[in-house]
Amino acid sequence: MATERTLSIIKPDATRRNLTGKINAKFEDAGLRIVAQKRIKLSAEQAGKFYEVHKDRPFYGELVEFMASEPVVVQVLEGENAIAKNREVMGATNPANADEGTIRKEFALSMGENSVHGSDAPETAKEEIAFFFSGLELVG
Ligand code: ADP
Ligand code: MG
Repeated sequence: MATERTLSIIKPDATRRNLTGKINAKFEDAGLRIVAQKRIKLSAEQAGKFYEVHKDRPFYGELVEFMASEPVVVQVLEGENAIAKNREVMGATNPANADEGTIRKEFALSMGENSVHGSDAPETAKEEIAFFFSGLELVG
């Protein structure tokens, strides 16, 4: 197994409800290390660029508006198979389908307001980390 890094975002529905610490505990309990983290407010333009891959989907406008509505916490998680492990800890996109004990099962409000983002593959993880963090901010 390889040590990987993945990009995580604690979304506005969760920062608004003061859940950053509870969500971070889920990552740490699963063996993921938070090696970089910052709280920022995305502009609609930045949120639109980050989610450009979904630009033709019917929910794109709603997603961009939501992600730019309030602060988010962007973070880099590191660990063995961090990309897949984080997806496991997050749970299914739709919280109604998420397994017990996952972040989305416990905290998500809906399919759109589902508390966390996580990269889905090594190439996207690399791009998404570079979208938010410079090399100097990644100390490991
Ligand atoms: P995931 O975040 O699990 O990787 P996707 O990449 O498919 O899921 O979608 C990105 C985000 O877009 C989701 O996390 C969710 O916030 C939003 N989203 C996805 N599908 C829908 C939908 N049908 N209705 C509203 N929002 C959606
Ligand atoms: Mg995705």
